[in-house]
Amino acid sequence: MSLAELIGNTRVKATLNGYLRNERVPSSLIFAGSDPYHQLLFALNFAKALACLKGGMVDACDRCRHCLAIDRGLFPDVQVLAPDGQFYRKAQMDELIATACQRPMKGERRVFILKEAQRLNEASANSFLKTLEEPLASNVFILLTSNLALILPTIQSRCQILKFMPLSNLEVKQELQRRGVDPGKARLMAFFNVGNTEDLVAADWGEMEEKRQAMFSILERLLRQSAVEDVLLDLYDRSRVRETFIAYFREMVNLISVLLRDIMVLMVDAESGTLINSDSKEKLMELAALTDIDTTFFLIRKMEFLLRDIRRNLNARVLILEFINSYAPGAAAASAGE
Ligand SMILES: [Zn+2]
Repeated sequence: MSLAELIGNTRVKATLNGYLRNERVPSSLIFAGSDPYHQLLFALNFAKALACLKGGMVDACDRCRHCLAIDRGLFPDVQVLAPDGQFYRKAQMDELIATACQRPMKGERRVFILKEAQRLNEASANSFLKTLEEPLASNVFILLTSNLALILPTIQSRCQILKFMPLSNLEVKQELQRRGVDPGKARLMAFFNVGNTEDLVAADWGEMEEKRQAMFSILERLLRQSAVEDVLLDLYDRSRVRETFIAYFREMVNLISVLLRDIMVLMVDAESGTLINSDSKEKLMELAALTDIDTTFFLIRKMEFLLRDIRRNLNARVLILEFINSYAPGAAAASAGE
């Protein structure tokens, strides 16, 4: 593929196109965002555009021997590095720096892509910093990270930082289809869009389907106000182990808001072709009959606030109560009257 074919993050793409068009490529870049696979795709395709024999510095042709070699991971001037253990080792960085001092073997530039750059610690970063300070025009360093805050400020200040947005459900669906996942399945998998497309592709589909059915059942109990205590007790039980609970709860709130969105879509247009859970239309219609459009809208907003609060790491039990109370009868009306 080429830069033009990449899905999502059009602003980042435009910036990279600008570098290529104006032949002003920064010697060090940080790609920061929540989806490492997606950022790696951007980095590799940018490297391809730089090395392509035919693209004329605008985009990769995707067919020349340089482009093909990069696709196969066999191009000597494009290296992808990952931490060896918990951090990058100093020896790894010394080797990188030694390579960076040599002339490129095939083209005009060498591109070094460092995955999980937040795992450069003081020791491994120190020698690397010198390389960033005195850049050679023939080198481009692309540091990928899911946590910009953990990258040493001395490194950040020497790099152009490009921030990536998470892919929307629709973009995830397109990305999965591009990777050969069948469209119906891709649509459902996008339901589990939690920020990392690589996890989605590797995920166990049976397990995901089980989770989706569990969410349908939880939402139904909440909307019918029947056996809500069971939902509450289950959540309290899970909240004992904080780390796994937060991941579970975030996923749960995410999935339930996708169901609510589908319900809202059906309320507005029962014939709409834009349902994510298009295979479960009947079930969604049943749930839609239990509520109304104002309540559903209120619940979607509530779930958005909850997701924000989960990120802020508020107390697990407060979050659970907040969640259950959102579905209490009259919650929407009470909130509207505030
Ligand atoms: Zn090419």
